[in-house]
Amino acid sequence: MSDRSPFDDFAASLDQMSSLGRRRRLVVQSVSGPYLVTAQSVRLLNFGGNDYLGVVADGLAHRSSGPTALSVPDSAEEESGGDEDLVACGATASALVCGWTPHHEQLAAAIARAEGTEAAVVFPSGYAACSGTIATLCRQGDLILSDQLNHASLIDGCRASNAEREIYPHCDVECVDRILSERRGEFRRVWIVTDGVFSMDGDTAPLYDLVRVAREHDAQILVDEAHGTGVLGPRGGGLCEAMGVQQEIAVRIGTLSKAVGHQGGFVAGPRVVIDYLIQFCRTLIFSTALSPRTAAGAHRVITSMADWNERREHVASLAVHLRRKIVDCLPDEFSAVVPVSELDEGIPIVPIIVGDDARAVEISERLRERGFYVPAIRPPTVPEGTARLRVSLSAAHRLEHVDGLIDAIKSIS
Ligand code: PMP
Repeated sequence: MSDRSPFDDFAASLDQMSSLGRRRRLVVQSVSGPYLVTAQSVRLLNFGGNDYLGVVADGLAHRSSGPTALSVPDSAEEESGGDEDLVACGATASALVCGWTPHHEQLAAAIARAEGTEAAVVFPSGYAACSGTIATLCRQGDLILSDQLNHASLIDGCRASNAEREIYPHCDVECVDRILSERRGEFRRVWIVTDGVFSMDGDTAPLYDLVRVAREHDAQILVDEAHGTGVLGPRGGGLCEAMGVQQEIAVRIGTLSKAVGHQGGFVAGPRVVIDYLIQFCRTLIFSTALSPRTAAGAHRVITSMADWNERREHVASLAVHLRRKIVDCLPDEFSAVVPVSELDEGIPIVPIIVGDDARAVEISERLRERGFYVPAIRPPTVPEGTARLRVSLSAAHRLEHVDGLIDAIKSIS
């Protein structure tokens, strides 16, 4: 018998990760406004979360009066019987067994209304919504064209699907057009799969041009609105709404865990697509449904967020301010992603590219010593050699918070 552990290879991988400075762990004790408090009771201004509208920071999910109060439609309260039936919070089973409640039903209906689609369905997470939807809808005989910088949940869905797939260079519409011109005839259906807002670069997919190319070649576009929902568009409908292409993009995926401040994912689209997912999508069928409590909370935000233009405008103005000021003061070793449009300038994800993993971690640590939490994002989340600080802004931040961060970055070199 060998005295080697059967898990030696895991230990070796972890050691390698540590030596590359990529091993991660942070325990957050609490969140208070725009601050987080670590397990060591250190209070840090939080630029790491995706609470873009400040729903979590401001405790909006619990507030039912005041200027940005959540509206609770009478029918939702009546049908759900209020909050007292939510004491036991688990759904206890998957949606098709007995985990789907009136809270889920109301949430899905509210999402469909907000998205202007025939129907919607709610998943236990955004990851499950993205990966499961692609794996289910993109079938054998189909072709998937997937942006090179798509989120892991989309990539995993593509890998699990029986469709053929091609990866196109980031936002390269000409390449999509070329592939379709050459290969459209080989496939029953073609899906162009893209993030709306790219989570690590804070740029946006060229949806107008993709829509034009998709129309020319009879292709479907599937957009992940994880970082657009609530943040973009006059009613918070996401990038598709901001670009006025909602009607052209039949299937839209989103998450309830970022601007909506809760947990879970959703898919909005034609009734036949949603019904098909409900019956065939493995990440929905084989996973316990979202907790009813979460569904009820997310429902309140979804029905309120169309009115939160002040929050949208505030967070966008902070992003513009940070982007404009940071280019003038960044030490030479860093670079910023230059926005290509007015819309991109207001996206609340502002990456500062450092390059080297260890250096990115060191800078993140030094910012932490100065009271700012800005995570260092390293491979495999981003491509090799592009480790970065990812600054994530929230409507709960104030201008002086952002200026404080800029001063802290300036002082590090
Ligand atoms: N898509 C994108 C672009 C994301 O950034 C994320 C989360 N990081 C997801 C999907 C998954 O969403 P969730 O966290 O709700 O599982």
